[in-house]
Amino acid sequence: MGIIRKTKAVATVLQIFEEKNEAKSVVHLIELVKDKMNKTTVYRILDRLEQDGTIHSFNGKDGLKWYAKSEGCSASYHSDMHPHFQCTTCDKVECLPFEIKIPSIKNHKVDSTDILLIGQCEVCCV
Ligand SMILES: [Zn+2]
Ligand SMILES: [Zn+2]
Repeated sequence: MGIIRKTKAVATVLQIFEEKNEAKSVVHLIELVKDKMNKTTVYRILDRLEQDGTIHSFNGKDGLKWYAKSEGCSASYHSDMHPHFQCTTCDKVECLPFEIKIPSIKNHKVDSTDILLIGQCEVCCV
């Protein structure tokens, strides 16, 4: 597997994240670009973009992998230390702009957190 340059495929995937500032499940992403590239390419691009710090991933309530754009983050800065919210009614997933304080655990090193809040979003709870 070579390094993915700013190819058309990369631009297509990036555009999905640029358009709407919403998280997308990997299944949904593959569905959106299925007539432009295959599954393997999508996975490879997502991996690459995640390493770049352009996007970040987390697990949704159904164990699906979700991706969202990282705002003003670089690969060296851990952008995934924030919780996510998933709406059980419309399935929308949002990044929540709160920093999670990780307690320090003796003799343990924490690299990442995966906090998912589940409920109804502002549209669905009215
Ligand atoms: Zn909702
Ligand atoms: Zn996020």
